[in-house]
Amino acid sequence: MGSAVFILAINMSVAGLLATAFFLVGLYDRSQSASRWLAFAYLCGVGYYAVEAAIPFFEDARLPVVFGFAMFLGATVLFNAGVARKYGVSCPWRLMGVLFVLFVAAVAAVQDLPRHAFPRMMAYQAPFAVMQVIAVAIVLSRRTRRIIDTAFALLLAASALHFILKPFLAQAVGGWGADPQAYLHSNYALFSQTAGAVFAMAVALTMLVILIRDTLLEMAARSETDALSGLLNRRGFERRADAAMAAAVDQGLPVSLVIADIDHFKSVNDTYGHAAGDNVIAAFAAFLGTAASNHHVAGRIGGEEFAIVLPGTNLMAARLFAEGARSALAAMPVEGLAEDRRVTASFGVAELLPGESVSSLMRRADAALYEAKNSGRDCVRISGDTPTARAWELRSALRRNGQSQ
Ligand code: GH3
Ligand code: MG
Ligand code: MG
Repeated sequence: MGSAVFILAINMSVAGLLATAFFLVGLYDRSQSASRWLAFAYLCGVGYYAVEAAIPFFEDARLPVVFGFAMFLGATVLFNAGVARKYGVSCPWRLMGVLFVLFVAAVAAVQDLPRHAFPRMMAYQAPFAVMQVIAVAIVLSRRTRRIIDTAFALLLAASALHFILKPFLAQAVGGWGADPQAYLHSNYALFSQTAGAVFAMAVALTMLVILIRDTLLEMAARSETDALSGLLNRRGFERRADAAMAAAVDQGLPVSLVIADIDHFKSVNDTYGHAAGDNVIAAFAAFLGTAASNHHVAGRIGGEEFAIVLPGTNLMAARLFAEGARSALAAMPVEGLAEDRRVTASFGVAELLPGESVSSLMRRADAALYEAKNSGRDCVRISGDTPTARAWELRSALRRNGQSQ
């Protein structure tokens, strides 16, 4: 057995293993239709290698050569469909379909040219480069990219370049064999199959890592998200809040915490039913979600209890934020309740003290919330332990005194 035949056999097995790997990833997460397209792509690759290995047994190799080429090109089309799915980009089916027909027709047309003719070699290689450039465009058309996505695009671009360089290399090393049989025994075939396998392997493994990474990220996000409110759950909130507070402290910025608890929520459930109660939670969470900006961390930390970390916000600004949320909530109608029924919430606000722990801040905000409940609910109370809070209370008292005089 020639070494190129041996490499073909290895490539075929590797393509089969990759097809299986993508199928398994697809089974594991059924929403990932990308993996199924990729599995079909590598299955098509297996077919190509089988045809390629069978070519020496044909007296007139033209038809199987064109067929094998079409299978390999088809594999790249399916691969691009998988990449498009993965990156949430619409798949350029029409463009790829037209190119597929043109490229297969071109390879059929060059069959009677001498094997060493440069146009013939290009007709074989350039289509793969074009398909991979399309894959690069698909990856780059996604605005939000991580480093691995950019690395994937670079790898695809290098692979495209390798296809374009192949005909030049074939000429440099004295062609790719006088006939298909000779090709399989040529040095060029050895290089071509090996380089092709290395690129294909690198591309496939990167794609697999990207698929698995996204699955893990999605699972992590799901485990930290509350299904009813769409906000972070307690676990997610604590993790993100810790990080946001540490970052604010590092930058020398103030950071405050607002805790809100819906008033008399039990009576909402008792009067209108649990489903209506759920509507209230969802409506309140939706309001908080829109009121909070990107750098805020908002979570549902209990049944009808919410918390928001406001980095870069001192106690007074946080208090204003809470007042805004309180009055907006008190005016918000909720589906499932009587038309004139309004739900209110009580708020506790605290600003992180120098050297204070997150749990101590939470305790102080909770104590302020308790005070709000005791003050008749539907109000905001601040934790008075900070210098700014004391100054503010003093200023308010002075203003009140000034007004009464
Ligand atoms: P307060 O003004 O003192 O906060 O009174 P409250 O009735 O709001 O507080 P309490 O702690 O007595 O009751 C909270 C209720 O919230 C009890 C629980 O059944 C309900 N609850 C907790 N989680 C959910 C939920 O996911 N959906 C619904 N509908 N109700 C929930
Ligand atoms: Mg409550
Ligand atoms: Mg509560």
